[in-house]
Amino acid sequence: MIEQIHAEQVAANFIKVVNKVCETARRVGRDPKEITIVGATKSVDVERIKAAIAVGLTDIGENYVQEALRKYESIGDAVRWHFIGHLQSNKAKYVVRFCKLIQSLDRLSLAEELSKRAFQLGRTIDVLVQVNIGGEETKFGVPPSEAIELIRAVAKLEGIKVRGLMCIPPYKSDPEDVRPYFRKMMELFERIERAKIYGVSMDYLSMGMSHDYEVAIEEGANMVRIGTAIFGPRK
Ligand SMILES: *Cc1c(COP(=O)(O)O)cnc(C)c1O
Repeated sequence: MIEQIHAEQVAANFIKVVNKVCETARRVGRDPKEITIVGATKSVDVERIKAAIAVGLTDIGENYVQEALRKYESIGDAVRWHFIGHLQSNKAKYVVRFCKLIQSLDRLSLAEELSKRAFQLGRTIDVLVQVNIGGEETKFGVPPSEAIELIRAVAKLEGIKVRGLMCIPPYKSDPEDVRPYFRKMMELFERIERAKIYGVSMDYLSMGMSHDYEVAIEEGANMVRIGTAIFGPRK
C-alpha cells in the first residue's frame, strides 16, 4: 500500500504549486490572479484537505458523490466545491445542493436532470462542458464537433448555466506532447465564445493536472485541477 504523505507536506506542496502557477502565468504575460487552482481530492482524507485549505486552497473537486457528501459534512462551505467526475443522472440531486461548479457535463439528459433539480431548489447550477479532446474511447466527454450543439441545447434550459469547458487530454509522459490538445481546446473555447450564445458565459477553461498544468496555463487554461502534486500519491 502507498503511504500517504503528512499534512505538513501537503501544505508545503500546495505553496510550491501556487508559486509554479504564478511563475508560469507571469512568464506568458498573464495575471496569476485569473487562474483558479482546484484541489483534486478524490481518496484524500479530510485532515489533508484541511491542511491545504489552511494555507490558501479555496476550491476542491471531487469525483464520487458519496465520498464528496461525507467530506462536505466536515468541511462545509469553507471552500467552493466542484464536481469533476462522471456524474450519473440519478445522483444529480445530491450534487446541486452543495457544488458550485459541475465540470463534467457531457450529455443533454444530465443537463435536463440538473436543470430540474436546481430549479426546484430555486437556484442556478453552473456547469462546464467536458470535451473528449483526444477522442479516446475510455474517456467521458462530448466529441469536440458536438460541443457547440450541446451548449446551444443546454442554454435553453432553466436553472443551469454553461460557464466554459473542461477536458482530460490523453496521458503523455512528456507534457509537451499534450500541448496540441490544449491548443485545440483553446480554439474550441474561442469559437464558442465568438458564437455569443444567449445565456452562456465562456468564463472558465479547465485543463491541466499535476504533470501538465504548466503547459496548460501557457496555452490559456484559467482553471487547473491538481491532485498528486499537492496531496501525494493516491491510495
Ligand atoms: C484525479 C483528477 C485530477 C487530478 O489528477 P492529478 O494527476 O493527480 O493531478 C484532475 N481532474 C480530474 C477529472 C481527476 O479525476
